[in-house]
Amino acid sequence: MATYLLTGGCGFIGSHLAEALLARGHAVRVLDDLSTGKMENLRPGATLVRGDVSDAAAVRAAMEGVDGCFHLAAIASVERGVRELLATHRVNLSGTLAVFDAAAPRRLPVVYASSAAAYGDAGPLPLEETTYPRPLSAYGADKLGCEQHARAAGQVHGLPSCGLRFFNVFGPRQDPKSPYSGVISIFCDRLSRGEGVDVYGDGEQTRDFIFVADVVAALLAAMDKASPEAPVMNVCTGEPTSVRTLAETIASLCGVALDLRSKPARLGEIRHSLGSRARAKAALGLGTPVPLRDGLAATLDWM
Ligand code: NAD
Repeated sequence: MATYLLTGGCGFIGSHLAEALLARGHAVRVLDDLSTGKMENLRPGATLVRGDVSDAAAVRAAMEGVDGCFHLAAIASVERGVRELLATHRVNLSGTLAVFDAAAPRRLPVVYASSAAAYGDAGPLPLEETTYPRPLSAYGADKLGCEQHARAAGQVHGLPSCGLRFFNVFGPRQDPKSPYSGVISIFCDRLSRGEGVDVYGDGEQTRDFIFVADVVAALLAAMDKASPEAPVMNVCTGEPTSVRTLAETIASLCGVALDLRSKPARLGEIRHSLGSRARAKAALGLGTPVPLRDGLAATLDWM
């Protein structure tokens, strides 16, 4: 059994990963500043070190005696990256460098969260890891920077790592109240209370929505694939879903009539986002993703 440092373990995805690691008998030490994460998300059995991932000394101390690190802490908001460029950069890129720096002397394996935002408006679809990335936001640029530094740390220090480009993740414990929430948690929250939902543009924009359990499966498998080659993989379903279909599916699960309110299209929004899961499926041995409807039902059950 191993001991893992899990940064961002009080967040949405981190809390599910902590649960899975503990269920497998591992010890979990969480480093989190509780900025968007919550105490109630800290899984029983995990220990919390309250601290900032961009504080190199705090990260070094938290990494004492662990066998590997899952690095999920980030300001996971494109909007905040617009308003607070330097502050988000400090957490999203410098924080990752602090993790690599602390892991490098012992060559501890690091599995870290990248994002589909690194692709920006790259194409053609489906996006493959070999597609040339064209980030459209500071958030996406910083995530791409994490990948480049992972490669450099692998070359220079022999640091083993694996980066996972998550597409649109959803599931229980995703906070619908946050202004940065994903569309699924907002739709589930509103439709389960019989309220209408806003759709920007014609609602035919598509996303690749992946249930959090599939993301956890990828994270767990990636720990064995961390290498100085610093592999990067998409974590997605390869299935496009329009925002309109999403709203219809959630409304049908809630047994309510859909009240869809049309809003003007949002400037700069990507029309379609779709990943290829071929590389991750082969490298991580992932099974069939949870069907969207089942993931939505589980999310609604939690609400
Ligand atoms: P989240 O906001 O729920 O979790 C992030 C956690 O990091 C929170 O607990 C927060 O308190 C913590 N944190 C933030 N800044 C910190 C700091 N300076 N020091 C220590 N802890 C800090 O977000 P999430 O959806 O669980 O995202 C987890 C990771 O996955 C992030 O790296 C995010 O960029 C990435 N990601 C998420 C999605 C998605 O759809 N949710 C998609 C792509 C990538």
